[in-house]
Amino acid sequence: MTDNKATLPKFQLIGWQGLEIQMPEDWRLTFDIGDSLKGFIRFASQSSNLEIKWETLKKRADFSIDAVSKNLINKIEKSVKKKNFKLLKRQSASVSDHKGVYFHYRTEQECYGLTWYCDKAEKLFILLHVFKPKEYRETKPIFEYIVNSLKCHSLDEQALWSIHNFSLKTPSSFRLGKRKILLGHINLSLLAEKPRPFRVEKAEIFFQCWSLANVKFEDAYNDPEKWFKKYYEKEFRKKFGKKMKTDEFQSTTIREHAAKTFTCTIKSFGLITSHTVTNIHNTIWYCPESNRMYMLTFSIAMNKLRFTAMKKTELLPPEKINDIINSVSCHVT
Ligand SMILES: [Zn+2]
Ligand SMILES: [Zn+2]
Repeated sequence: MTDNKATLPKFQLIGWQGLEIQMPEDWRLTFDIGDSLKGFIRFASQSSNLEIKWETLKKRADFSIDAVSKNLINKIEKSVKKKNFKLLKRQSASVSDHKGVYFHYRTEQECYGLTWYCDKAEKLFILLHVFKPKEYRETKPIFEYIVNSLKCHSLDEQALWSIHNFSLKTPSSFRLGKRKILLGHINLSLLAEKPRPFRVEKAEIFFQCWSLANVKFEDAYNDPEKWFKKYYEKEFRKKFGKKMKTDEFQSTTIREHAAKTFTCTIKSFGLITSHTVTNIHNTIWYCPESNRMYMLTFSIAMNKLRFTAMKKTELLPPEKINDIINSVSCHVT
């Protein structure tokens, strides 16, 4: 066991669609689809990959995780066309305080699998870690570490979003929209909507970061205001409106880094009776520890009938924006 510990790689915290899990730092998120109710993610290393699939499921009286696991193993056996399929182990296991089933099989490759039902989130999970048989020794302690770190339900109304050593916490009502996860650039859009009488409120938390900032933005990385004007303002206007007038930039700090922030309001008139007011709050900073440029944008759009009074935002009031900003972690400490 001591030997195994010595060979463990460095891990990073992943927070994604309601899941929290530690993954080896050099593994990449290579595929993700769906939302927190039903979805799938895949991480890959040089020689193995790990997939997690979840689906919301109301537990029926006759539900049995044992039967689910048998079914699943049969399906896998069929899908590999029984090519040298050998089930090496199947036994009950505990995952994140839930009852589950662990299994281990071999075809041309080898796989550790787990399935469990989370009664707190009412979801059925399947985790498969596929690897080369000759890498059995290195794989087992990594698999165990990942499984022991796993949290499939949140204990509060907060969702953790954590990827590539950046993390923040948002209200759990926000759902993942468009995302792009590349080596040098990440962007994530988290969206929430609240229909109210005579009006609809839509909010977006838009997170972006750029790696190798002191090379990519050599002349502006340590001056967030200059950086925004030179490298991003055009894009920003394309997204939020060309006529946008930004207020003065204010100085602030994020995790002890000097940051710049500005707010602005955009009014647009729609068809005859409705209009939209969008309030934007944008923060930009450079993190020397990770050598990344970061931008975190909050936008709240209120669409209402023209002659009704404007109400305060319920999705992202200032104190919630502050809480989200305070939850940001932009480098490993
Ligand atoms: Zn759970
Ligand atoms: Zn930082």
